[in-house]
Amino acid sequence: MQQELGLWPRVLQWCKEYSLLFAQRADVRSEILKRMCTNVAVVKCMDGRLLVAEAAGAEPGILEVIRTAGGIFNLGWPAFGQYVAEYVRRSQEKGRGNLFLVTYHFSRSGEKFGCRGHGYDTDSGIAAAAKLVEQIRRVYRDGSCPFPVDAILMGIETDHQEFIFHDRDNRRTARMSETPDDLESIRGLIEDLYPDMPVSIRWDLLPFMQGNIRRQGKALDNSNTYREHRERVIVVGHALAAMPGNFAIVISDHEPKIGRSVRIAADIIKGNRAAGRIPEDERLLVIASAAFWEEGAPRFLAEERARTLASFCREAIGELEQVEYRACVIRRSDRRVLPLEDFV
Ligand SMILES: [Zn+2]
Repeated sequence: MQQELGLWPRVLQWCKEYSLLFAQRADVRSEILKRMCTNVAVVKCMDGRLLVAEAAGAEPGILEVIRTAGGIFNLGWPAFGQYVAEYVRRSQEKGRGNLFLVTYHFSRSGEKFGCRGHGYDTDSGIAAAAKLVEQIRRVYRDGSCPFPVDAILMGIETDHQEFIFHDRDNRRTARMSETPDDLESIRGLIEDLYPDMPVSIRWDLLPFMQGNIRRQGKALDNSNTYREHRERVIVVGHALAAMPGNFAIVISDHEPKIGRSVRIAADIIKGNRAAGRIPEDERLLVIASAAFWEEGAPRFLAEERARTLASFCREAIGELEQVEYRACVIRRSDRRVLPLEDFV
């Protein structure tokens, strides 16, 4: 049955199922959020092999995720700066602090399985992430907000979905595969790496680390699935959380040179097809999406945004490829994905 459906109807079906599951898990989510004092955001590369929430054993909908090619961001970019300011403001209004996990990625299998956005140069990925950590800590330094805001540098090894935490000076690292799964050790490690981290943030970083320690050597170590790119879809704007790992390249729309990320993404998928890792005759599916919280003007604005993003993608990719463009909006309260039928 699934074979007969095109990619877009399949994606919509997954989104529908995800939204139902999201509603069913509302109580679990609110219990977890009640215990947390910090909203945790992950800044990462658009690469489809990075499964941060899953690798941390985090409940869907708890982590905020932001993505570009190489995870390269700058707080000075107007759209990104505004987005971060809004995210922090919303958190602070609810009496919560913020933790940004700024990431880079690499593969134990070798350089060529690393980050395309940095030309496979891991040091360049680390340097870009370290720069953003510094920027966030500079802007949200002590006393600039009622509740604490912090940022740390984290590596992701894609074959095993292992997290590597870097200390403040980027001199020492801690691998989760080498960290014992007991609360004392994890607490000690956090204190050692981040002696100046506010206690409330330490408390919320702990389950994230422990989740990844527990994942090591378990179901996610199927390196073959995550060693190589196997993505088939590009999503620009707000992520569609329903899609499985290594299926979509997701690019947030907070960067000024979005066309660069979109072109790299299209190239990666072209490579997947040429290497026979995805169906040879499949058209590239590009989905432009925008999210909204309230009905009325905010929703209509999101519709305009999604349509405009789709045209950016058209300009970036051009007609060189066989491409199917789609646009949709996402209602954040229940994660419903609403396709814009008038857009094809
Ligand atoms: Zn990457």
